[in-house]
Amino acid sequence: ALDDKKRNIFCAYNHTGEMHMLEKPVPEPKAGEVLLHVRATGICGSDLHFWKHGGIGDTKLADECGAGHESAGEIIALGEGVEGWKVGDRVAIEAGIPCGQASCRFCLEGRYNQCQNMVFHSSPPFHGTLTRFIAHPAAWLHKLPDNVSFEEGSLVEPLSVALAGLEAVDVKLGDPVLICGAGPIGLVTLLSAHAAGCYPIVITDLVSNRLEFAKKLVPTVRTFQIERDAEPKATADKIQELAGTPLKVALECTGFESSITTAIYSLDSNGKVCVIGIGASTQSYPFVWCSWKEIQLNFLFRYKHQYPKALRLIEGGLIDVKPLVSHRFALEKAVNAFHAAANPAEGAIKVQILDL
Ligand code: NAD
Ligand code: ZN
Repeated sequence: ALDDKKRNIFCAYNHTGEMHMLEKPVPEPKAGEVLLHVRATGICGSDLHFWKHGGIGDTKLADECGAGHESAGEIIALGEGVEGWKVGDRVAIEAGIPCGQASCRFCLEGRYNQCQNMVFHSSPPFHGTLTRFIAHPAAWLHKLPDNVSFEEGSLVEPLSVALAGLEAVDVKLGDPVLICGAGPIGLVTLLSAHAAGCYPIVITDLVSNRLEFAKKLVPTVRTFQIERDAEPKATADKIQELAGTPLKVALECTGFESSITTAIYSLDSNGKVCVIGIGASTQSYPFVWCSWKEIQLNFLFRYKHQYPKALRLIEGGLIDVKPLVSHRFALEKAVNAFHAAANPAEGAIKVQILDL
C-alpha cells in the first residue's frame, strides 16, 4: 500500500498532463552525498506549469519527471567521506546542485546560479524532491536551527529568490518600495522588504483576496488593485500617489509586460527594477523613458548564497513564513495537493506536502 513508510514513493508529471504517484528504489548515497528522508515540500508555480503545460520555455517533459524543489528533510545515512553531518540532522535542501568544477568559471567565481551544468531538482530530466528518500550532496544542505520547522525549512527556497532580488537592487533602510504581484514570491518579497526596513511598501495584484492576504501579513503595506488593461503610466501615477513619493525600488513578481512597464513608470529617476517574474520570451519597455530617467533594469535567475541568510532571518524571527502555508497534505496524497494548488477557488497560497 502507498502508506507503507518504507516505500520510496514520489509524485511525477509527464507530457500527457497526468500527475501520479510512482515508486523507485531507495537510493544509495554516493561519496560526498547523504541519504535524506524528505519531510516537507512546498508546491511552486513552476511545478504546476510543468504539469499543465508539459514544459517551461525550452525545457520540455519527455518522460515521467518527479516534481518538487522546495524541501527540507532529515539525514538518515551518510555516504563515504561525508564530514560535519550526522544521522538525525535536520536540513534545508538547496534545490540546485552546481557542478563545482574548476573548469566552470561560474562556479569558480561563486556565481553558481549561472552554472551551465546545474542539476536542478524537478527540472527535467532531473527528478524532484517530492519523494520520500533522496540522495543529495552534503555540500548543498543547510542545517535547520532548532527553532525552525521542516515546513519553514522548505520555504527557504522561495525566500531565497526574494532575498536575491533585494540584494540585486541593493535596498536600504527607509527605501520606498513597490512590489508587483502578491503571489507566493511577491509575498515572501514583501516579508523581506519589510524586514529590511523599507517604507512605505506598496504591493499590487489583480486579485483582491491576494491583497487582503498581504495586508494581514504586513499590516503597514499599502495595497493597490490593478485593473485589467489599465494604462501603465496612469496606474503608476496612482501608485506614486498612494506611496506619497516616487518609488526608489520595484520588485516585479509577475513577469507581465504591463506590470513591468507600470513598475518602470512608478520609479524616481535612477530607480531600480528587479524583474523576478518570468513572462513572455520577448517584451517591450518604454525605452526613451528609461533612458531619460536613467532607470536601472535588472533581471534575476534564481539565487546564490541565500539559504544561510534566509535561515538566520527565520531563526531570529525577522521573517515569519509560517502564515503562507494554506494547505497541508500527506505525501501519499501529493496528487490531491497539486489539485488544491491549481484550483483558484481553493484560495491556495503555499501548499505543503508532509511526511512526518
Ligand atoms: P503566482 O502566479 O502565484 O503569482 C503571481 C501574482 O501576480 C498573482 O497573484 C496574479 O494575480 C498577479 N498578477 C498577474 N498579473 C498582474 C499584473 N499585471 N499586475 C499585478 N499583479 C498581477 O506566481 P509566484 O509563484 O508568486 O511567482 C511569481 C513569478 O516569479 C512567476 O512569474 C514565476 O515564474 C517567477 N519566479 C521567478 C524566479 C526567478 O528565479 N527569477 C523564481 C521563482 C519564481
Ligand atoms: Zn559549474
